[in-house]
Amino acid sequence: MPPRANSPAARDAAFALHPYTEHKAHRETGSLIIERGQGVRVWDESGKEYIEAVAGLWCASLGFSNERLREAADRQMRKLPFYHAFGAKAHEPMIELSEMLVQRAPVPMARAFLANSGSEANDSAVKMVWYYNNAIGRPQKKKIISRLRAYHGVTVASASLTGLPANHKLFDLPIAGIFHVSAPHHYHGAEPGESEEAFASRLADEIEALILREGPDTVAAMWAEPIMGAGGVVVPPRTYFEKVQAVLRKYDVLLVADEVICGFGRTGAYWGSQSLGMEPDILTCAKALSSSFLPISGVLVNERIFEGLAEGSSQIGTWGHGFTYSGHPVSAAVAVETLKIYDEMDVAGHSRQVGAHLQNELRRRFADHPLIGEIRGMGLIAAVEMVEDKATHRNFDPARKLGARLAKLCEAHGVIVRGLANDAVAFSPPLIITESEVDEMLERFGAALEAFTVELR
Ligand code: PLP
Repeated sequence: MPPRANSPAARDAAFALHPYTEHKAHRETGSLIIERGQGVRVWDESGKEYIEAVAGLWCASLGFSNERLREAADRQMRKLPFYHAFGAKAHEPMIELSEMLVQRAPVPMARAFLANSGSEANDSAVKMVWYYNNAIGRPQKKKIISRLRAYHGVTVASASLTGLPANHKLFDLPIAGIFHVSAPHHYHGAEPGESEEAFASRLADEIEALILREGPDTVAAMWAEPIMGAGGVVVPPRTYFEKVQAVLRKYDVLLVADEVICGFGRTGAYWGSQSLGMEPDILTCAKALSSSFLPISGVLVNERIFEGLAEGSSQIGTWGHGFTYSGHPVSAAVAVETLKIYDEMDVAGHSRQVGAHLQNELRRRFADHPLIGEIRGMGLIAAVEMVEDKATHRNFDPARKLGARLAKLCEAHGVIVRGLANDAVAFSPPLIITESEVDEMLERFGAALEAFTVELR
């Protein structure tokens, strides 16, 4: 139904150009307008309440209200609402946050660079990799390996790393020098009877063949989310990163871990790198860094990369990169408070415990459902995927958009999930969620799934 004239929905449709939205359809349907939040719940303008099962965009880790974060922002607003970090200027919140990030890194890291979004963090890291290799006299070593179904952002370089068609088609992307290898999804990618370990070996071989084809002297880095998020919540097969990293080390190819979703407890460890056995040279993070209450992201670099950046900057006279809002004091103060809360609540322990409940309950309730082909995830990130044929794992015709339709029906049942490719829907609730809230979330999802099953008959 088209929105009422002059309603917020009509004004939204008239004036707002939405991210990730089909613009023509939006003119007709308008938006779901969210008005307020509390804990794991949000309310729309009509007063209807929803459990936010994806924490917004996998990000509002402390939910939709937090007095301590509000007070941290207020304090910093009063004291110093803005200052920058260019040309060796600094302020306490950016110093404290950089220190806390380096101290909490999953592997020894030397420095933290601050930016404003996951895309900016990944774009910055691409430039760091290129700059590093120029500075140490390897100007030809620039190519980057990413993966199909990866999500690393939407700025020009990060969108090029992203491995999803909608981020490339009509945008003239990816840029040159970025290569996408297979997604590590055993359910769809493995040959019949192929074990997870054998599949992982095959994927590592694919990466080695690519490096040899392009020339090891030309390949600089590989990007990887520990668990792919937007690409479908893809947990890699056993031994994957062990084998991939052996190949990367052999050819001196850097590993960049994109922890934008997985960082800060999501997978049941503080970092996804720890859950999946990654030892990155560079790590990017965002989202839960400030519980998304304010925009901020980070890039951690190890000593080797930092030395290269330092060497280059002394050759040029400056490191010519940084944002007006790099380390913004209010965002940084909120992030510092967020990290303190994580320490106090033992965010990884909580996520491991409640995450085990989520994973068990998803399987107990839905594994035998006729529409559900695969249930996957770890800690407090999960997806359920609908298939037409459970034996062959064949998906439904994408034109039917079953995943998006189920996600919409979930809203009617009071739970906001995220529809992904291959008719998967994602769960990535605020990390503060309790076991009983998980149960309530899955009750609502189950009711939507039943209604959907009836609708499809
Ligand atoms: N990297 C990953 C793994 C993400 O999931 C996202 C966003 O969802 C990004 C990068 C991009 O972050 P942003 O939307 O803040 O630019």
